[in-house]
Amino acid sequence: MMLEFENVTKVYKDKFTAVQNIDLKIEKGSFSFIVGKSGAGKSTLIKLLIKEINPSEGRLFFDGEDITYLSSRKVPIHRRKIGVIFQDFRLLNRKTVYENIAFAMEMVGHSPKVIRREVPTVLSMVGLSDKANNFPNELAGGEQQRIAIARAVVNKPELIIADEPTGNLDPETTYEIMKIFTEINRRGTTLIMATHDRMIVDAMKKRVIELKNGKIIRDTQEGEYYNVY
Ligand code: ADP
Ligand code: ADP
Repeated sequence: MMLEFENVTKVYKDKFTAVQNIDLKIEKGSFSFIVGKSGAGKSTLIKLLIKEINPSEGRLFFDGEDITYLSSRKVPIHRRKIGVIFQDFRLLNRKTVYENIAFAMEMVGHSPKVIRREVPTVLSMVGLSDKANNFPNELAGGEQQRIAIARAVVNKPELIIADEPTGNLDPETTYEIMKIFTEINRRGTTLIMATHDRMIVDAMKKRVIELKNGKIIRDTQEGEYYNVY
């Protein structure tokens, strides 16, 4: 298993229960959507996974390793196994596209030689080889998101988590982004995507995990955004 949540509950500030008794297994190489209204608990699940927060109860396992509590020394080591993509891209605006991706590689200690080889490879994968020397704010939204995806995959994480990655994009650009995610998943990377986008979920026919008020109320293979049954 890539991931296991065992009876996980998160209570913020000792009073607000954001997710409750979550039991969830995500297989290696799978593609899952997490859906649910704003406030349902999607971001809390993601924050638990990247160890931004600790659970109040329950246990979490990543690739068989118990990650319920990690020392501050181990958190960065854990995060390197996960590529995260956000709705607002979070690129470094003072660095070029090339430098944004190279920087992510420098952070984990790759050599200049490997960086010079890998940055062009991921840029080509997202179809933006010609934008290497542009700054993020010179690019359209969909292009910025493709750069964020290139940065997330360049260190070859086992898991990619995308939190509303198409929330700011038009349908056509969204379709391009989903093609890239499909290809990344086809090559073996586990993918989890939180989304509000009904069209994407219905078109992709992947696993759908629906949260409501912090609980899983539906978990279907080849599901749709709304439960039709
Ligand atoms: P989603 O991502 O589905 O919109 P969240 O996980 O962000 O949901 O939020 C789940 C619930 O937890 C919401 O009701 C939200 O207001 C609450 N919440 C989120 N973060 C905090 C926090 N830091 N302190 C208190 N309550 C929070
Ligand atoms: P959209 O309407 O889809 O957001 P834009 O008008 O932002 O598209 O961008 C269309 C194209 O023009 C993109 O390829 C983008 O990279 C390029 N572009 C936009 N603004 C600039 C700029 N200030 N400098 C260079 N290229 C730009």
